Amino acid sequence: MDLKGKVAIITGARRGMGRTHALALAKAGAKVVVADISLEDCQKVVKEIEKNKGEALAVKCDVAKKEEVEEMVKKAVEKFGKVDILVNNAGICQFKPFLDLTEEEWDRTLNINLKGYFLCAQAAAKEMVKQKSGVIINIASVAMGQVGVGIPNIVHYCASKGGVVGMTEALAVELAPYNIRVNAISPGMIETPMIDPIKKDPKVAEAMLDRVPMKRVGKPEEVSNLVLFLASDASSYMTGSTVVIDGGWLAG
Ligand code: NAP
Repeated sequence: MDLKGKVAIITGARRGMGRTHALALAKAGAKVVVADISLEDCQKVVKEIEKNKGEALAVKCDVAKKEEVEEMVKKAVEKFGKVDILVNNAGICQFKPFLDLTEEEWDRTLNINLKGYFLCAQAAAKEMVKQKSGVIINIASVAMGQVGVGIPNIVHYCASKGGVVGMTEALAVELAPYNIRVNAISPGMIETPMIDPIKKDPKVAEAMLDRVPMKRVGKPEEVSNLVLFLASDASSYMTGSTVVIDGGWLAG
């Protein structure tokens, strides 16, 4: 996948899948904005990219804060001149029984996982419409609903990811006239710090893996390959799709 000349923003890119997406897009030739709450950690990812002769910029951005999101896009344009690709990846997954869940916890998850995607998509799309081209990739989850995966103790997370899929389809329709493609990726269990709470309880981990025909969790790089495909012209006729990458979980 050749992304030379493209500019990509990846949120939540200090670690986990966001980091591998940033590295993969940079390796494919894109200039990459590495955004997350910790600037210091973003700078480490930028150093990794630069070590591999790539170009990148670290930006501190809490995706739930409109001013910080707008500043992130502004910095991207100041440094690289435009925005071609947005990977809405930043997210949190708090494990808590529904009956104990507070309104504040619900709001925090929805503010980051759903409102954050809206804020970033809108700020990036305002740049993309100027050039009449762009790609937005929203990271959802198999916990998005309607696919037979109901996971207890993360009701707010599931609600946010269902919202991401709905938003992806609506945005794809609204932004198609501007030649902006919008797709979502729904990963199953992927080896990142986000699944540490699952791994801490061997019984839960075993029960979850039991549902996955490939009997292993995915690697972040395996999801990055899909990000690369959706970011590139190889997927030029795809918009409004949600692509599942789950080791066969939904098929099993
Ligand atoms: P991760 O390692 O926890 O990475 C998420 C990143 O997002 C972290 O660096 C986190 O920073 C950052 N972040 C959290 N809140 C933020 C905010 N308000 N603004 C900016 N950045 C923020 O998790 P991951 O597994 O790579 O998750 C990436 C995406 O994949 C998420 O959307 C997640 O829901 C989705 N996903 C993951 C899995 C999985 O099994 N791992 C499966 C399906 C979908 P802090 O660490 O400081 O909070």
